[in-house]
Amino acid sequence: MSLTPVDEVLDKIKHQASLLVDEEEIDLSSALGRILSQSIKSDINVPPSDNSAMDGYAIDSVGVSKGTKLKVSDRIPAGTAGQVLLPGTAARIFTGASIPAGADAVVMQENTAVIDDEVEIHEHPQKGQNVRLCGQDIKAGEIILSLGRKLKPQDIGLLASIGYARVPVYQKLKVAVLSTGDELVCPSEIPPNRLKPGQIYNSNQYALIALIEQLGMTAINMEPVGDSFEATEKAFLHAAEIADCIVSSGGVSVGEEDHVKAVVDKLGQVDIWKLAIKPGKPLAYGRVGKTPFFGLPGNPVSSFVTFNIVARPYLMLCQGCPDDELTQIQVPAGFEIKGGSRREYLRVKLEVDEHGHISLVNFANQGSGILSSLSWADGLAEVEIGAKISKGDAVKVRLL
Ligand code: AMP
Ligand code: MG
Repeated sequence: MSLTPVDEVLDKIKHQASLLVDEEEIDLSSALGRILSQSIKSDINVPPSDNSAMDGYAIDSVGVSKGTKLKVSDRIPAGTAGQVLLPGTAARIFTGASIPAGADAVVMQENTAVIDDEVEIHEHPQKGQNVRLCGQDIKAGEIILSLGRKLKPQDIGLLASIGYARVPVYQKLKVAVLSTGDELVCPSEIPPNRLKPGQIYNSNQYALIALIEQLGMTAINMEPVGDSFEATEKAFLHAAEIADCIVSSGGVSVGEEDHVKAVVDKLGQVDIWKLAIKPGKPLAYGRVGKTPFFGLPGNPVSSFVTFNIVARPYLMLCQGCPDDELTQIQVPAGFEIKGGSRREYLRVKLEVDEHGHISLVNFANQGSGILSSLSWADGLAEVEIGAKISKGDAVKVRLL
């Protein structure tokens, strides 16, 4: 099988991805990171009425100029409604309080002086100054957030501002995470001083669970899978039963100890195997029974990169969120590199010089086992097949 280009794989799998979860309604306070299952329309104007942007005096700007003295006829703190402004007077007003009928401007306190029961105006007021208009943020009937939106903290605030206590979201996609490899041990089971020769810690399981949870999904932490056909088959059958999607790591290459592909060939189908991507070539995608499956390579950088570049947009579509990819920017390279026969994702950092100019630095060791390169990196720089990148050339970077 030849290596499939990354973009071709992305097109194909995105085409096959479908919504795999139902809707539910949840408390706004627990909706961070969840995906809206309906577009949200506001029933109200925000702010609900014209109100003051300042502590000061509400006036009718007509006929008022620098030096005018006005009797203070009312006092309107936020949360109360004032009387209609009497002609030729001012109302003491506080930030957020509704502008009384008859007033069209607010003079800030700093530009006034109070003498007995009068206020002297020290500026020439403009109609509308320091007034926040009704509906200037949100208009009644307006769609404020669209279906498929991943809710950010500011969205939670926006929903609260239009009186939403509960929100319609998609249920969390359940993603089974399994690691294959006889060498793997869990840090909670064996301390470093008791590691046996040949054993390594299962870092992929932790990183993949964290990635999935960061996407607002439920990661199902499956038992580690030994390197045998039987153990792999049993684990995948179980995962397909309890999860909406399966993400595995390791055992997907061509050695005799790699059983994932053969097992998925038996239990379902492997649609894609081997990508023109570095790191991460032996990625497999297909189905276990009817359950979508990504078999990520075992090397820690490979599994992390392929999860982000390939599996993530697919899983987000299954979760009801379209077009979710890592943010992409163009930055001048601070290094030279020649692209090989696969698209390469380099671990890079954004460096700002004394003039504020940004350039990219790449991590010295770009090996697929160098997990520290990912902790160090700000992003992944894309080096296309056969590309020649010189210092100063703009390079596409996906921010982590
Ligand atoms: P494999 O794809 O199973 O041949 O694994 C490739 C390399 O990645 C080997 O050096 C494995 O020991 C390592 N590896 C596989 N799975 C994990 C894991 N879950 N955590 C850390 N390293 C792993
Ligand atoms: Mg292995």
